[in-house]
Amino acid sequence: MAACQWGDAEKRLIGILKSIAVPFVRVSALRKVLFLDVLLDEMNSMTQELEQFDVLVIGAGSGGYIASIRAGQLGLRVACVEAAPYADPKGEPRPGGTCLNVGCIPSKALLSSSEEFENIRKHSRAHGIHVEGVTMDVPAMISRKDAIVTKMAQGIEYLFRKNKVNYLKGRATVLGRVGDAFDVAIAQNVRARHLVIATGSLPRQLPGIAIDNVDVCDNAGALAFQAVPNRLAIIGAGIIGLELGSVWRRLGSAVTIIEALPQLLPMCDTEVAREMHKLMSAQGLEFQLGARVSGLERNPDGTQKLTYSDASGTTQSLVCDKLVVAVGRVPTTADLGLGSIGVEISDRGFVEVDQHCRTSVEHVYAIGDVVRGPMLAHKAEDEGVMVMERIAGQAGHVNYDAIPSIIYTSPEVAWVGRTEQELKEAGIDYRAGKFPFSANGRALGNGDTSGFVKVLADAKTDTVLGVHIVSTSASEMIGEAAMAIEFKAAAEDIGRISHAHPTLYEAIREAALATGTGALNL
Ligand code: FAD
Ligand code: AMP
Repeated sequence: MAACQWGDAEKRLIGILKSIAVPFVRVSALRKVLFLDVLLDEMNSMTQELEQFDVLVIGAGSGGYIASIRAGQLGLRVACVEAAPYADPKGEPRPGGTCLNVGCIPSKALLSSSEEFENIRKHSRAHGIHVEGVTMDVPAMISRKDAIVTKMAQGIEYLFRKNKVNYLKGRATVLGRVGDAFDVAIAQNVRARHLVIATGSLPRQLPGIAIDNVDVCDNAGALAFQAVPNRLAIIGAGIIGLELGSVWRRLGSAVTIIEALPQLLPMCDTEVAREMHKLMSAQGLEFQLGARVSGLERNPDGTQKLTYSDASGTTQSLVCDKLVVAVGRVPTTADLGLGSIGVEISDRGFVEVDQHCRTSVEHVYAIGDVVRGPMLAHKAEDEGVMVMERIAGQAGHVNYDAIPSIIYTSPEVAWVGRTEQELKEAGIDYRAGKFPFSANGRALGNGDTSGFVKVLADAKTDTVLGVHIVSTSASEMIGEAAMAIEFKAAAEDIGRISHAHPTLYEAIREAALATGTGALNL
């Protein structure tokens, strides 16, 4: 990047001032204004060495890096800036954000390794396979996960080069508006006509519980244990709490999850959450629901004593070797300098945006975890694509009703559209059709018949309003349901589409049929 040479700039400023000093003392007030315009123009041209972009994307996470690639594809001159090194060996800012470095990808790698381990130990016998002396090499499992993350981070840098995205390393702070552009301080200042805020989120912290990411961890620490903790306590029975709890339980930890609400997975359809409570408890996860954590003591022997009041209000304590705090995430807007250009921030710290991710300031957009909506990587990506297409004059759009959500436990949970409780609250008349995997031939063959598919359809129009799946491959099956909702399909449409046999996704068809004429295999 061309540096702005202050020595040269000063010389040019003195030159400009000398050349206009004499006329300036003679001009009228009006000409003074005109003169100031000339001076401003001169000063602007003076700073032309400053790197200029059509768009600057702040944050190279799921939203920011995909937005940048799309911008490159659309022919925009784009830069993407990232501050966090995560586990980069040289300590340099690394692209990929939470999802790649300490979220989706590493957690799925560990879920996969631990599931392999559990399948060999506990489920292979049912297939007639006898394996003795199975052990888990935790450092090798963590190294595998780290190698996947490194490879994908390199992949993003390759994609940046391929799509002519200027990757800038450093912490971005918005300095202010200059004419119709914005100046942003990174290592050197840059100027851009549009800004896309994609700064993501950070783990929410609880008062009195300091994270050290060794014994008291957030997601980053919990994805890097070098040995299996004997007793693991997790605060928060949301998606992250259940996924991390599953990993370490499968490897041998005694896991207790403390949740403030009376049910786990509060964002799920209630019937799904109840089913998951049953299935997760049967696997050995212990839940304390309706419980409030009141304090943490660090014992000299390295263990932690957690104090909480249980659902009946009785004070309880729990000693654990490691504690994971997974009580949600907060948007990253502090110290970004957004106040300098007047971008509105909500009481909860989210950047305020409309349905097209436009902020309160023209030409400034915000996407992903830093704005309203589900904190999901693909939602951030979809918003990134939409925003760049709109900047390029196209009609980018996100259908927020058709964004799937997934929990990668075993069985998995996946859903898209509305829950039964949302439909009831909205007063929408609907029909529910349900089909259990115990009646699905492929599930029997696979050796896991847990879970069901539930399809919710509008009682009058038959339009599919929501699909909820609990099953081993729910994450792959939910695509059909998202497509159905996107194309405003009727439940009857799903029922009439040929579904290959034997497959798990036949259960979606059966559940769709169950909303109307009835399932065939039940
Ligand atoms: P982020 O990925 O958080 O990226 C924002 C980036 O901006 C960060 O790298 C940050 O360092 C950078 N930044 C912030 N401020 C500045 C600044 N001033 N200058 C420069 N850079 C800055 N979602 C799913 O869809 N599927 C999953 O399976 C899934 N699993 C998850 C598992 C875990 C354990 C966690 C924690 C999250 C998971 N998520 C999952 C959520 C997903 O990670 C986020 O929704 C996604 O990362 C949001 O993308 P983003 O681009 O908005 O923000
Ligand atoms: P998620 O938003 O999916 O990461 O889930 C976070 C979970 O943590 C939710 O189920 C919250 O109800 C739960 N939670 C939030 N604060 C607390 C707290 N102080 N104690 C226990 N659970 C909490």
